[in-house]
Parts: sequence; C-alpha cells; structure tokens
Amino acid sequence: MSSLTGKVYLIGAGPGDPALITLRGCEVLAKAQIVFYDYLVNPLILKHVGPETELVCLGRHGRGRLLSQAEINAQVIAAARAGKIVGRLKGGDPAIFGRTAEEVAALEVARIDYEVVPGVTAALAASSYAGIPLTHREAASCVAFVTGQEGRDKEGASLDLANLASFPGTLVFYMGVTTAPRWSAELIQHGKSTETPVAIVRHCSLPSQQVVKTTLGQLAEVLATEKMRPPAIIIVGEAVAAETQANWFASRPLFGRTILITRPEDQAAEMVNRLTTLGAMALCQPAIKITPPTDWSPVDAAINHLASYDWLVFSSANGVRFFLDRILATGRDLRQLGTCQLATIGPATTDALQDYHLKADLQPAEYRAEALAEQLAPQAAGKRFLLLRASRGREVLAETLRAAQAHVEQVVVYQSEEVRQADPEIVTALSESKIDWITVTSSAIARSLVQIFGDDLKKSQLAAISPLTAGVLSDAGYPPAVVASHYTTEGLLEAILAAEDAN
Ligand code: SAH
Repeated sequence: MSSLTGKVYLIGAGPGDPALITLRGCEVLAKAQIVFYDYLVNPLILKHVGPETELVCLGRHGRGRLLSQAEINAQVIAAARAGKIVGRLKGGDPAIFGRTAEEVAALEVARIDYEVVPGVTAALAASSYAGIPLTHREAASCVAFVTGQEGRDKEGASLDLANLASFPGTLVFYMGVTTAPRWSAELIQHGKSTETPVAIVRHCSLPSQQVVKTTLGQLAEVLATEKMRPPAIIIVGEAVAAETQANWFASRPLFGRTILITRPEDQAAEMVNRLTTLGAMALCQPAIKITPPTDWSPVDAAINHLASYDWLVFSSANGVRFFLDRILATGRDLRQLGTCQLATIGPATTDALQDYHLKADLQPAEYRAEALAEQLAPQAAGKRFLLLRASRGREVLAETLRAAQAHVEQVVVYQSEEVRQADPEIVTALSESKIDWITVTSSAIARSLVQIFGDDLKKSQLAAISPLTAGVLSDAGYPPAVVASHYTTEGLLEAILAAEDAN
C-alpha cells in the first residue's frame, strides 16, 4: 500500500435521526476530505464534515438517477488513489443490506486501507422509536432481518419463506413495501397465521415517522389503502402486540410539526436542538445575515478611550460578541473595559456577556429598548453612554437617554443585512403549506421575511418574539398567530407549545 494512497471510512449514518450517528462516525467525518453519501442519509449528518470537505451525493429519489455499485466503487477508489481521506456514508448500518461486502472487496483488490464504522440499523430504530420490542421474554426469543428484495442476479426466489414461516421469533422486513403482497401471502401459505400482528414503521426516528398496525392477512390491503411508500420497516410477530402504551417518541409535544427557524445561521443551532427534542422537524432559512462592520475605525476609536464612558449598552448578543472580540483581536484584553458599567437588553445578551466572564450591571425586567431606556434614564444625567449597535436598528434608546441629559455615542459593531433569496426547497415547502410554524425572532427578521416570502407567509402560522415584532408583521398584513409573553426564544417556544396544546 503506497503511503500516498488515502483511506476509506465506511460509516453508518444511522436510520434518520441525525443524533444516532456514533462518536467514531463524527470523528472520521470531521477529518474526511471527500464524503460520498447515499440518498437515505439525513443531510443534517453532513454538519459534522469540515468546511473544506467535498460532498458527493450518490443520487436521490426523484432527483437524478442512483449510481450503480460499480460506479460508486470506482469513484470511491479514485478518490482514495488521489491520496484523499474518503468518508463513505451509508444509511443505517453499512453492513445491513448495504452491500458493504462488495465495497470492501473492491477496496481490498485495489489495496486501499479502510475502516468500517457501524451504525444504528433501521430495524433497531423502528423498534425503539415506535415502542415495539423486537425480542420479548414471552413473545419472541429471536429476531431475523429479512430483505423484501431478492438480488437481481439470482435465479428464482432466494428467500426461504417456508422456513421463515416457522421461525420462532420476530421477522423484520427491509425493502419490503412493494413486495409485501407476495411475501405475506407466501408466509401464510406456509402456515403462518393471518392474525400475526404486523407493524409498518415508515421514516423511523424522523419527525415524519408513521406507524401503522395491522395483521399479516391484512398487510397488503393496508399498504395499498394507506398509500405507504418506502422507506419502511415491516415488523411481523407477536412482539408487535407487546407495544408499550405511551410512545415516548410520537407523544412529544411538537411531534410531526415542521417549524422554520429564520435567525442568522450561527445563532440557529440552539433552537434547532430544542425543537428537535420537542419532536419537531426544524428547518432553517436565515432571513438576515450578520457580518462585521464595513469600517472598524469608529469601534477602535471607542475602544481606545473606553475609560471615558460610564455605561456600555448592549442591545443584542451579537453586539457583545463583535465588540468584545474586537478588543481581543486588537491585542488587548478585557481590562480595557475598566470601570464601565454594563447594561444589556435581555437574558440572551446577558448570557453572551457571561461567556466572557462579565456580569451585567443592569438588565430590564421587560426585554425591549423602551424598558432599558426607562431604567437607565433616572441615573443618566451628565453620564457618558456608549451604545454598541447593529448597522440598522431603532433610535429610541439614544433619544430617551439624550432627553435625560446624558452624553450618548453610538458605534456600529456589526452589519445586519437582509437575505434576498430563500432556499428553493423552503420556498416549495411553504407554498405547499408544509411548514406549520415560522418563528420570527426580531423586527429586522420580520421585515426581511415579508420581502422574501410575501403572501406565502399566509400558508403557515407566524410566531413573533415580542409585540414589536408582531407589530411589524401585522402592519405588513401578516398578523402572527402567537406572540411570546417572555421576549426570548424560549418564550417563543412556550407560545407555540401553548397554541399546539389548545388545538
Ligand atoms: N443499511 C440500512 C438499510 C439499507 S436497505 C440500515 O442498516 O438501516 C434500505 C431499507 O432500509 C429501506 O427500504 C427500509 O426498509 C429501511 N430503512 C432505512 N431507513 C429507514 C427509515 N428511516 N425508516 C424506515 N425504514 C428505513
């Protein structure tokens, strides 16, 4: 093996829920230089790859053709021969109906180094996420994973359904939706009871998971009437009847809901996590883009004479980060802040200060500029204030403080720009009314959303973070369905949960 040859990692991506990849899987994805992924792999898994990594999708249902196994092998081997570290992501576990043996054989022939990273296979996820045990002390003491598709190059039926009919445990069919009429009839013909309990688990572990229960005798008819399409796992056996009553996955409060997050990209992660934990499918379409100021010199000038200010006022977490990072990036440390008092507009901004081990001296009880101004005003006369702000924003804070005889300076510490074009997939999902909620977390985002989506905003429910944001939406003709009573992202989620609960 030449030291110039790369290495191939065959990585199990898990069945759908992006959190089901292994730690080893994340580790090797982070160092891969090129990643080939199957259509069954959840694209959210790709967040573990490095920024420079080349991504190659090996075909997707409805979008381009699926590549043949020989073409995939050739591409993977060519990348490794070029000296690259190659990630080859496969849905579920790479070796369960994943043709790993063929890929491995090709790598061995080509004398390319490889490692196989296992994954959670769909059968196991269908079991856990649908609450159906595959083994059961009374009902099933063994499990068989069965393919509903026979290899195309084999002659005749390779599945021994006669033997499977008397298998003393649970049968789990992969790729069995379209062939179910045939294999279910054959199992019955060989003596399996028509009353054997069956569960069809489609899109297991995803917010779109569907579970349909039936019997072996009814399976074909149920698949047809419910119009069940792949990918689905079909579980056959008495263990299906032992399903737990309250399904932990499907009973989460936002299960099956699709929610659009519109915050800037680098601030969306926490909301995505919260929503996913609550059972929702979180989509992201940033409505504004946050970038450094076009000119740092006014900021640098302010940093140079920070000692002359009594108060530094932060009206967003972004303001905190851009300003404090600038102090550090210009070779100074936080002692530069000296004895300045620090005011924030709300808890997210206070938390951002905390990340730099700084405590806010003042945070208003109500998280809006008017409340902050009112609280600062009584002690403002004769004092010097520096407002660290976005390139656009409201003047109410500066005006109120000046009216209270304060000396006020403002510097722009970051630019907030509108995003003009949305991801075409999001545009389609919204126009087809497939988005249940759109979260609107600032007035700037509200204005931008109106520009981007216009009347399509009526095809979803809008959730506004504050009355101010709600006002911007209403004035444009799109009144929100809910308004948070605490003006934080957590407050916003509470408002959505309350509305869902009332439905
Ligand atoms: N290597 C994969 C299986 C690939 S075969 C694994 O270990 O899971 C493809 C079949 O897997 C599909 O036809 C379907 O039966 C099953 N499958 C994969 N993902 C699934 C999902 N999220 N929900 C239900 N079935 C799934």
